This record gives sequence, C-alpha cells and structure tokens, in this order.
Amino acid sequence: MRTIAENIQAIRSSLHGNVKLVAVSKTKPVEDLLEAYHAGQRLFGENKAQEMAAKFRMLPADTEWHFIGHLQTNKVKMIAPFVALIHAVDSLKLLKVIDREAKACNRVIPCLLEFRIAREETKYGLSYEDACEILENPDFGELENVTMAGVMGMATFTGDMELVRSEFRLLSQIFDRIRQNYFSESAAFREISMGMSGDYLMAMEEGSTLVRIGSSIFGERQGTG
Ligand SMILES: *Cc1c(COP(=O)(O)O)cnc(C)c1O
Repeated sequence: MRTIAENIQAIRSSLHGNVKLVAVSKTKPVEDLLEAYHAGQRLFGENKAQEMAAKFRMLPADTEWHFIGHLQTNKVKMIAPFVALIHAVDSLKLLKVIDREAKACNRVIPCLLEFRIAREETKYGLSYEDACEILENPDFGELENVTMAGVMGMATFTGDMELVRSEFRLLSQIFDRIRQNYFSESAAFREISMGMSGDYLMAMEEGSTLVRIGSSIFGERQGTG
C-alpha cells in the first residue's frame, strides 16, 4: 500500500496546470492530515462543522479549510472565523447567515453555489433558475461579507462515465452562463469545484478548477462519512 504522501505526489503529477487539490479528510484522524500537510498539502475538505473546527485547532495555521458538505445554518458560527471556502451554498437563507457570521468575525467568506447536476434524486443543490432567483433578489445585493467564487456539483454515483461526463459538462455550462449574466465584472467568480477520486481526471477535462479527493489519498472511509 502506498503512503498518504505518495498518493498526494501521484495525484499532483496528474493535475492540469491551474487545478487545485482539496484533500478530503472527513472521518480521518489528525495524524493522517499532518502526514498530508508534511507532504506539502495545504487545502483540506471536511463536511462536518464540529469535526472541521476541532481539526483546525490541531493543524498549522497556514492550512486552508474548505467546507464541502451540506451546511446547516446553526453550524455556520463554528467555522466562520477560519473557513477559506464554503463549497455548497444552496439557499439565500444560508448565504445570509454566512454573511452575518462573517461580519461578526470581520471577514469576507468566499462561497460556491451548489448545483444539482446528477440525474439521480438528490436532496441538495440549485437549478439554474433557483440560482438566478437568489442572485436577482434585492437581499442578495445587500450582502457585504460573502463573495461568490464560483460553482460546485456532484455527479451521479454510477459507473456510466459518459453520464458523469455530461453532468460535469452541464456544470461548466452553468458556470459560464452565471458568470456572463451576473459576474462579468468579478475576477473572484472563477472556480468550478467538481471531481472526486473516481472521476477527477474527467472533471478536469470538462473544466474543473478544484478537485475534491478523499479515498485516493487517505484510503477508504469506514461507514458512510
Ligand atoms: C466525501 C466527498 C468527496 C471525496 O470523495 P472520494 O470519493 O473519497 O474522493 C468529495 N466531495 C464531497 C462533497 C464529499 O462529501
């Protein structure tokens, strides 16, 4: 079995030029994160606020924390002081809470809009129309402590790689349309977060700028993490 450091090196060597690697460390012990850190990894992805806050206290200060899961409004406060990017914003209500908590810490928090691109039934994520509704809402214009940094999506969990490719392509098209219509003046709106262990090479071919990789770095997770 290869070490965490070796896995990271192997993945890094396969990344396209400007693509960033988020090491998805959910459920993994701090020793594993430190091993990745010492191999040069700085971006880590977690999907539970409490777990992320605990790990934040145990890793060096230049670690960047990406929240990649569904974020409940009552958990925002826990991560607002340090989170570097929130990947999965899917409501104006959540965005308002992030804005409020960011203001309380004197920060501006970058966020991605999560889109529902999977063919399968999923609970979370916006349609293109939902996103337009948020971005055109007068309340959105009032938010000063969040920046919109791009889009995120999860493909269908399937071995049908052509279906996965079509979903990634759809997210890229949504990104282009949203950028043209709402963020043509904003250099900050530039990220497409898509691709995991099994499909990140394809995601990069379809325009991903942030790949979120867990099991190919740290090994399989126990349970459903
Ligand atoms: C767990 C998770 C990943 C990483 O999945 P792997 O298949 O282990 O690489 C990526 N994105 C999200 C949103 C996740 O919850």
